[in-house]
Amino acid sequence: MTAHTTPALSVPSASAPFRQTTIERRDLRADDVRIDIAYAGICHSDIHQVREEWGTSPFPMVPGHEIAGVVSEVGESVTRYAVGDRVGVGCMVDSCGECEMCRADEEQFCTKGSVMTYAGEGYDGEITMGGYAGSVAVSERFVCRIPEGLGLDAAAPLLCAGITTYAPLKRWGAGPDARVAVIGMGGLGHMGVKIAAAMGAEVTVLSRTLAKAEDARAYGAAHQYSTKEEATFTELAGSFDLILNTVSADLPMEDYLALLKPFGAMVNVGIPNSPYSVPPGSVVGQSKVLAGSMIGGIAMTQEMLDFCAEHGIAATIETISADEVDAAYDKVVAGDVRYRYVIDVSTITPTD
Ligand code: NAP
Ligand code: ZN
Repeated sequence: MTAHTTPALSVPSASAPFRQTTIERRDLRADDVRIDIAYAGICHSDIHQVREEWGTSPFPMVPGHEIAGVVSEVGESVTRYAVGDRVGVGCMVDSCGECEMCRADEEQFCTKGSVMTYAGEGYDGEITMGGYAGSVAVSERFVCRIPEGLGLDAAAPLLCAGITTYAPLKRWGAGPDARVAVIGMGGLGHMGVKIAAAMGAEVTVLSRTLAKAEDARAYGAAHQYSTKEEATFTELAGSFDLILNTVSADLPMEDYLALLKPFGAMVNVGIPNSPYSVPPGSVVGQSKVLAGSMIGGIAMTQEMLDFCAEHGIAATIETISADEVDAAYDKVVAGDVRYRYVIDVSTITPTD
C-alpha cells in the first residue's frame, strides 16, 4: 500500500455485487483535509445509481455520501480543521466558489456544476469515489464539524438524510403553527419526522402500514396513518400546511395534494425514475404549491448538525459490515431497515 491507498467497496458494473478492493486517493491539495472514515450511511440514492435507475452511471463506482470520520492530515492552507477533529462530508466535494449560488451558500446549485462526492466528474477530470472507503481527501470547504454529543455512526446519515429534510422543512415553514405530514418513513423520512417535531410542528406520518407507528411516536409524530387505507385520504383531506414526500417510488400525487390546505405546499425530495402525473386542477384549484428540494448548502448542513446536537437527535441506525452491503441494498428496497444502514468501514478487507 502507498500512503494514499485505501480499502474500498467498489461496484465493477451496474447492479454487480460489491468487491472489497483498494483505491488511490489524491495527494493533499493545499486546502484539503484527509479524513479517516469511520462510518458511511447507505442512502437510497446509492442504490438508484448502482442500479442505473437514473440513467447511465460511471463504473467502477464507490458510492457513499453520508461520511463521518476523523481528520488525519491537513493541507498547508487549511485553517478550519486540525488533525483529530470529528467531521463529516455529504453529497458534494467541490463547486466554483464564485457564482451567485456559491456566494449565497447554495453550492448544490453552482452554475459551473457542483462536484458530487461519487460518480461525479471533478474539475480535474477525475471521476469521484465516495465514502464506502477507509479514507478520503476533500477540500475543507466541503467538510462539516460533527458536534460533541453526536456519535460518528448516528451522525453519518445526517450528511444527506438530515440536510435533505432539514432544508425544505426550514424553507417551507415547519414550526409551532404548522401541520406537517411526512410521506414514507425510511432513511430520509425518519429524519424528517424527528427534525419537524424538533422545530415544533405537529407531525403526521403517512406510511404504507402502521408497522412503524410506535417509532414515529417516539420520534415526535403526533399522528400516524396507513396510506393503504382509503379512509386516510377522506379523513385527512385539506389538513396540512406542508407535506414532505420522501418516497423513492411513484405515488398518486393527486391523492396527496388533496391533503393540503389551500396555499399548502407539497415538497418532493424522493427521486423515482418516473415522471410526476399531476392534473392541473389539483394545484390550481386551491392555489397549492408542488415543489422539490435538493440537499442543502454546506453552511446549512453545519447548521443542521448543530440543530440536531442541540435537540439531541440523530439517525436511528443499523450498523453493518462490508460483506453485508449487497444484502442491505435489497433490504432497503424492501423497506426492511430501521432506519438507516451504516457501514463500519473498518471491516472492508481487500481481497485483491
Ligand atoms: P428509503 O430509506 O428506502 O425510504 C423510502 C421510504 O419510502 C420507505 O421507507 C417507504 O416508507 C416508502 N416507500 C418505498 N417504496 C414505496 C412504494 N413503492 N410506495 C410507497 N411508499 C414507498 O430511501 P431514502 O434513502 O430515504 O431515500 C428516499 C428517496 O429520496 C430516494 O428516491 C432517494 O434517491 C431520494 N433522495 C433525494 C435527495 C434530495 O436531495 N432530494 C437526497 C437523498 C435521497 P414506508 O415503509 O413508511 O411507507
Ligand atoms: Zn443521499
